[in-house]
This record gives sequence, structure tokens and C-alpha cells, in this order.
Amino acid sequence: MNPLPDFQILFQLFGGHPRFMNQLSCGFEVISFAGEIITAAANTNMFTYEIAPVFILMEQVTMRKMREIIGYKNGDSILAPGGSISNLYAAMCARHKMFPQYKEKGMAAIPGELVMFTSVHSHYSLKGSAATLGLGTDNLILVPIDKKYRMIPSELDRLIQEQKDKGKIPFFVCATAGTTAAWGGGVLLSRNTRHKMAGVERSNSITWNPHKLMGVLLQCSTVHFKEDGLLISCNQMCADYLFQQDKPYDVNYDTGDKVIQCGRHNDIFKFWLLWRSKGDEGFEKHIDHLFEMTAYLVEQLKAHSDKFELLFDDPDCTNVCFWYVPYRLRTMKPGPERHKILGDIQPILKGRMMTSGSFMIGYQPLDEYPNFFRNIISSQAVSKEDIDYMMEELDRLGYDL
Ligand SMILES: *Cc1c(COP(=O)(O)O)cnc(C)c1O
Repeated sequence: MNPLPDFQILFQLFGGHPRFMNQLSCGFEVISFAGEIITAAANTNMFTYEIAPVFILMEQVTMRKMREIIGYKNGDSILAPGGSISNLYAAMCARHKMFPQYKEKGMAAIPGELVMFTSVHSHYSLKGSAATLGLGTDNLILVPIDKKYRMIPSELDRLIQEQKDKGKIPFFVCATAGTTAAWGGGVLLSRNTRHKMAGVERSNSITWNPHKLMGVLLQCSTVHFKEDGLLISCNQMCADYLFQQDKPYDVNYDTGDKVIQCGRHNDIFKFWLLWRSKGDEGFEKHIDHLFEMTAYLVEQLKAHSDKFELLFDDPDCTNVCFWYVPYRLRTMKPGPERHKILGDIQPILKGRMMTSGSFMIGYQPLDEYPNFFRNIISSQAVSKEDIDYMMEELDRLGYDL
């Protein structure tokens, strides 16, 4: 008996279907799934070497490799429960670097109000970090962007000076690659896309979520620091029932005191195993496939410009933004007035696609643009046929709207 069909049904139920393109983390990597089963069976914690020696070593080699790919010579890394927490670690370490006395003395040790900076279009987790760190969300300064949604460096300089003039203390700038680095970090794995992150080695830290472009099963998120020792110095509390210094092995292998958690889930095995199975070359092909499918989608949307209106001609990553144009609006000229009507129509069409159950993509508004579809290609299973199908289905379900 061939068990494959049942498995395929299982994958579809759990979001591995190629026609589910709703999220940044789509797809179903079977090897990573196998890793997750073994992880669950091993059921161990990642805080000390003594209870997870092999997994700790896997973390070390995999994190070192990622830092090499980023271009950090030494440094340190940790797997965190998500990109949002990774971003928080980056901000915490930046503050610790500038004001190490904060750890013991708290806010009173800082001679003024701290401010941090990020692009007006960065991830909302930065706002969360500003609140969690005790700065307040007003002290997250949003830097204007250019037409391609990139932070404008001269505006950053101006805003830093403006805040200094007000007596505030800048300590952290979170730059974004395209839209987000947690999302886009995977482009570093292909010689064809690496240039999109050129200069990343000049950063002090970077968040990179392997559960996004790299397809590792949720959840798998990493944060990397150029300077070794910062993470532990920032977070170490020296609990002597876990992190005894007189253990019969090199206690530098214990990772538990680098984090704000105590216990930590094993997110490395499913990641390490996937990398071992694909190899560097396999991951290059993996990333190239996602970008090839994206290029195909863009080409097809342009070829059917009567039915689809692209928001951005030349997307940097695998997010493709467009409106579906129903029959009655095809003679109306593209522009803000038509966008306004289209903005009301896209959520209705999303409702129809969810009810029909044939595929799923997401929508959102952005600044002056009303709701549009934001299709994400982050699954290896996506083929040209799936893209053709999605476009046909949009037309079938939305034609009369
Ligand atoms: C996805 C993303 C996040 C959130 O990551 P989670 O793993 O969902 O917490 C944060 N920042 C950036 C830049 C992202 O792309």
C-alpha cells in the first residue's frame, strides 16, 4: 500500500498546500517535519549542554555558519521565539552596550530619555520593543522612506540630530532590507539574490527567520551579534542551580544565561537537518525557485493587465502586490479613483476565495493605497501551474463583482 496520498492530505490540512500563499511562512518541508518529530520525542530543553549536548553543538555550528554568511567574523547568536523577540534582543543589547549600568540600576542610571529609530514601514514589533524596554512608543522615531520604501539616510541623520537637540539619547537604529530582514534574510543563500543585502556585514546585529524564506517549520528564528559576549553580559543572572561554574565541562557551552527565558525550545534540529539534506547548493536552488516563481507571477500579471493592476513593477522580494479588476471596472482608467472602488472589492473577493476553499492569499491597505492583494511565495511547492490557477480563480470568483 502506498501511504503517500494520505500524507498529501495531511500536508494540505496543515498549510503545506502550494495554493495557500497567505503568509510569510508557507510550505511544508518534509525533512524539517521529520526533525520536528524527533525533537518532540527527545523532549529536551536547550538551556544547558549537559541535557542537550548534541543539539547545543548543532546550534553552535549552524549559528557560526549563518554569521559567516552574513559576514560577521566572530560574534554570537541565539535562537529566539520569533522575530519580534529577536528584534527586542537587538535593542536590549544596544542599550546594554551603551549603558551597562542599566542592568542593575534601571532607568535611573540613564542620563536622559532614550530614543530609537526605524523606517516608517518597519515591522510593528519595534513599537512593541520600545514599549517593553520602558522607552514608550513615542520614543520610537519613524524615519521617512523613498519611493521604493527604503529608509532615507539623510532623513535619519536629520532626525538623530533633531532628537539630540531636544536632549534625547539615540542608541539604536533598526534598518530594514526591502521591507524586513527577518523575512528576507534567506536571500543571502543564493549568489543570484545576495546583492539585495549588500552591506549587511556592517550592521551590529541582524534578525533572520529561517521559518520564512528558508521554509523551516515554525518556529525558527535567529538573531546574530557582531560582538561576542554582549548577549550574555546583557542577560546573565547566574542562577546557581542551573549554571554552576564548576561543572565537569566547559560551561561556555551552556546557553541558558544568554536569554530572558529560562527553558528554551529546541528549534535547531529541524533546521540543521533541513540544511544537511539540501546542502548549500540545495538552499541556493530553493531561494532561486521562489524568486523565479515571483518573476513568473509578475510577468503574468503584466501580461493580463486588463484584469490585474500591479502596485509595484519590480518587487524586491517574493511579495507581489496587485488589485484584481472585475469586468465592470476594466474600462475605467487606472488610478486613485479606481483604486478606491477596488479597495472595497478585494476583501469581498477574499471572502469568496475562503468560502470556495480553492486557494488563499492575503490583502492589506498601505498608506494612500486602499486594500490590495499581497501574494507571498515562500513554499517550494509553488509551481507555474499554481500561479496560473490562482489568476484564473481570481477571475472566476471576482469577474462579476
Ligand atoms: C516576520 C517579522 C517579524 C516577526 O517575526 P515573528 O517570528 O512573527 O515574531 C519581525 N520583524 C520582521 C522584520 C519580520 O519580517
